[in-house]
Amino acid sequence: MMVANKPNLAGLSLENLRAFFIDLGEKPFRAEQIMKWIHQRGVVDIDVMTDISKPLREKLKATTNISLPKVVEDYLSEDGCHKWIIEVVSGSKVEMVFIPEAGRGTLCVSSQAGCSLDCTFCATGKQGFNSNLSIAEVIGQLWWANKKLGGFKDKMERPVSNVVMMGMGEPLLNFDNVMEALNIMMEDCAYGLSKRKVTISTSGVVPAIDKLKAYTDASLAVSLHAPNDELRNQIMPINKKYPIAKLLSSVSGYMDSLGDKRVAVIEYTLIKGVNDHRQHARDLAELLKSFPCKINLIPFNPFSLSDYERPSSSAISNFRQILQTAGYTVTVRTTRAYDIGAACGQLVGDVTDQTRRSSRHKRRSEQAVEDRKVFDSVDNLAVTADRL
Ligand code: SAH
Ligand code: SF4
Repeated sequence: MMVANKPNLAGLSLENLRAFFIDLGEKPFRAEQIMKWIHQRGVVDIDVMTDISKPLREKLKATTNISLPKVVEDYLSEDGCHKWIIEVVSGSKVEMVFIPEAGRGTLCVSSQAGCSLDCTFCATGKQGFNSNLSIAEVIGQLWWANKKLGGFKDKMERPVSNVVMMGMGEPLLNFDNVMEALNIMMEDCAYGLSKRKVTISTSGVVPAIDKLKAYTDASLAVSLHAPNDELRNQIMPINKKYPIAKLLSSVSGYMDSLGDKRVAVIEYTLIKGVNDHRQHARDLAELLKSFPCKINLIPFNPFSLSDYERPSSSAISNFRQILQTAGYTVTVRTTRAYDIGAACGQLVGDVTDQTRRSSRHKRRSEQAVEDRKVFDSVDNLAVTADRL
């Protein structure tokens, strides 16, 4: 967020902060100091930054600002997940979700308000596109999660160990801002997250994947959802522009550039009667046979504007079994935070209709109990996004 064209220090990467201080005639190490104050201690009041001289603080107050999005709603799920809704400069509401687990905490971060890509199974897509989030609005989600969860306290272990860019929007269509925000996430003097624990999820914006390696070494997940172009064209319009063969070859290029043992994660949302047939699983196994990857199955999460349904637990199990037998590492994502409307693909950022929301909340709570019964009965499947 910019106020009267003053640079927002919360949205500057270390490199840009250094350049900023050099321009100001100051020493570049000021950049580390500012980053630590904002992103390690959660301080946004320049007066509190006492290791910076008073005259420089006055100069910073006059010429810059530190501005983060506002949290306007705060939900806590029965299963311990949090959902926070932030208001972004465009006026839209955007959601982020924190998923705690033993030994780790994953933050699902949004990159856009709405999404232009219109995948048929996605609530965000049904909203259409509203705006790109600024760097500060993307990194601000991690800042807020830390603030809300006590992560800025001294000696406190950071509650967010993993970030997945799997919230609202297509991260690679907000390329520059997302890349800068990822930089800040992985910067030692900011959040210091490991490249293995920061995952970009994309529906397949091939030109952006092709240039990704010049900007980041984060992990990559690809939303495939179909084993052939004919079906993928029907449920993901982007496939008409960037079909599967082009997509997989572009992803291979990025994974090869990483030069380590990481493999891409293939995300496959299972939708009853659409892409969950045994033959789809066999075709998927065939399609990916020379493509090193792990497969993450996501049972479809229903929402009001969609007639799609989630497959039965036995259909999910059969699908997984076929892939495992073919030699793939397969995980099935456990549904979390369904009761607060924060499961994959349910993020809509709609906070205007409180009445509908509370009756939905009740229905979801009941549904969540049912869901858990289903997923507890599917053996060995407990996996969430951060295990990617
Ligand atoms: N735009 C990016 C990231 C956001 S969507 C992408 O498409 O990858 C994050 C994941 O949630 C994607 O794999 C997406 O396909 C999946 N998803 C979307 N709607 C869903 C739904 N209703 N149920 C289950 N998963 C869904
Ligand atoms: Fe956009 Fe991803 Fe939803 Fe598709 S699944 S509409 S790309 S947010």
